[in-house]
Amino acid sequence: MIRYACGACGAQLESDDENAGREERCACGAVNTVPQRPKADVQPERVPVTPRLVTADYVPYTVTSDAAGKATASLTLGIISCVAWACPLVGLAVSIPGIILGVQSQRLEGSGRARKGIVLSVVGLMLSIVNVIAGMIVQVE
Ligand SMILES: [Zn+2]
Repeated sequence: MIRYACGACGAQLESDDENAGREERCACGAVNTVPQRPKADVQPERVPVTPRLVTADYVPYTVTSDAAGKATASLTLGIISCVAWACPLVGLAVSIPGIILGVQSQRLEGSGRARKGIVLSVVGLMLSIVNVIAGMIVQVE
């Protein structure tokens, strides 16, 4: 005997083994397909577990995109810092995270964008520092 539940009303139904795969009408009027008789000696089909594929594909992708985002941010901050140094506090606030992001992304990705971001941020930082020092000298005098 095959026991199964009606898909419409949930009633427990029984059918002969040879009816497996055929359609049967429940008392409620719903037509159900009689399931195959579950066999105790047959192992349930297992989907091969491949955690290596999942991690190998997933993690580097996020790391790479994260690094690419940081490299772009570093380059953007570097470009801004080369203009923003004229206002020293803004120059420092932009160039320092630009360097940090550039270094972080270069370690992960090693892209040219990250290197340019670091260079531009360093230039912006230098100009900001020079501007701060010049400003202090002007104030002292
Ligand atoms: Zn039913």
